[in-house]
Order: sequence, then structure tokens, then C-alpha cells
Amino acid sequence: MRQKIVAGNWKMNNDKAETKALIKGIKKAIKKLSLKNTRVIISPSYINLSAAIKKADNSKIEVAAQNMHQAKNGAYTGEISADMLKSINIETVIIGHSERREYFNETDSILAEKMDAVLANGLEAIFCFGEKLEERKSDNHFAVVESQLKNALFHLEAANFKNIVLAYEPVWAIGTGETASPEQAQEMHAFVRETISKKFGKEVADNVSILYGGSVKPANAEEIFSKPDVDGGLIGGASLKAEDFAAIIKAI
Ligand code: PEP
Repeated sequence: MRQKIVAGNWKMNNDKAETKALIKGIKKAIKKLSLKNTRVIISPSYINLSAAIKKADNSKIEVAAQNMHQAKNGAYTGEISADMLKSINIETVIIGHSERREYFNETDSILAEKMDAVLANGLEAIFCFGEKLEERKSDNHFAVVESQLKNALFHLEAANFKNIVLAYEPVWAIGTGETASPEQAQEMHAFVRETISKKFGKEVADNVSILYGGSVKPANAEEIFSKPDVDGGLIGGASLKAEDFAAIIKAI
């Protein structure tokens, strides 16, 4: 079933004490919410995942990783494998964030391998994609998004989609304060659902959650989330403040 999801991407922020304090704050701020059919996910840095899981225990907060290497193990200095994540009870991992694509050269074909590794290990992926500013300005945004989906996901099986969440994140809206309008988000989300439907069937498309990411804040969350094909958000900056993150969760 299609789920509502608010996921926080903490990026390279928060040491161990700050991680625990932020989780405490979020727990308190969302305690009274019923959160029916809504998942709340946070993704602290690798080094604090275990502490975060412990701190989020007995709460509605799920803990995800921000990235994962595609190989089972081996000589990949600085990298983290699916087995390592599973060994500390991580079940969800963000794949293909635009910062990974841009600063760490993660290409579509690497991301296809990462998706294979995530799914083969029974993990869930939050798969990110989205166009750059020049691609939108030149009216290529639909073609870019379609090729990102095709290149990283079209080799998969329909059944895999029960473990995939999609996150449309226009690069020009990430961390810039500029947000896609609710209409722009809806237009792209509908296109993504249609693209998934054509390849994997209507049932898969109807059931997959598609999140919007890019400068979502308490002030704009409700309007964006009100759109029929927007099933929640992937939140960067505003997920680092308990009150703001809770306000965004309330807006769903
Ligand atoms: C993100 O990094 O996924 C993101 C959406 O960041 P921000 O909300 O800060 O734009």
C-alpha cells in the first residue's frame, strides 16, 4: 500500500551527542501525533546509526542510512556494506542523492548496481533523482528524470517495488531555499508514476510512494503534500530542527 513518508536526510551533520539530542526532541515533538499510515524516517551519519537506533527505540522513528556500497565486502576503504547495515538493524538506505551523484561521481550504472545490492539484501531503498537547473531551463527535465529512472531501475522486477520509495529532488531546489511549486512537483510526480506504470504496471505505480525533496519547510509543506501524487517529503535542512521536522510531519 502507498505510504505517507517524511524522511530526514541529516547529511554530514550532528555528532553523537547532537544526534541523541535531536532524536529526543523529535520524539517529544511527535509524541501526540497519531501518524496513521505515515512513516517517519531519519538518516544520521554512519558513525551515529547505532546510537540513533538505540535512542529511537520504542518510538515511531525509523533510522535509515544515507548511502551504501554495492559490493559485498572487500578493499573499498571508507565504504559500508549491506551486511554491515543489516548487522545493526538498519532496514532502509538512501540511494542516489544528488550530492552523491555530484561530489562522489555516482553514475546511473553505479546506482543500478547499488539498487541490486540493496534489494538482494532485503533492504529498502529511497531512490533519489531529479534534474539540474540548466536541464529544467532547457525544458529537458522530463527526459532527464525518465533516463535516470530507466538507467537505474528498469532492469528490476515489478515485485522489487515493494522495497523502493522514490524521491524526486530537483537539484536546483536542494539546500537553495528555492522550492518547486506544488504544481511543478505534482506535474513531475504524475510523470514519474506514469513512467513506472508503463514499465511495471498500474498496480506498482499506484502503490509506490513518491516523495518530494528540495527546501521543504513548515511554511510550504502542507501545500506540497496536498498534491495527489506527492506522498511525503525527503527533508534536508529542516530535518535538523526538531520543531521544524515535527511541523512538516504534522503537515502531511
Ligand atoms: C536533501 O538534501 O535531500 C534536501 C531535500 O535538502 P533541503 O531540504 O535542505 O533542500
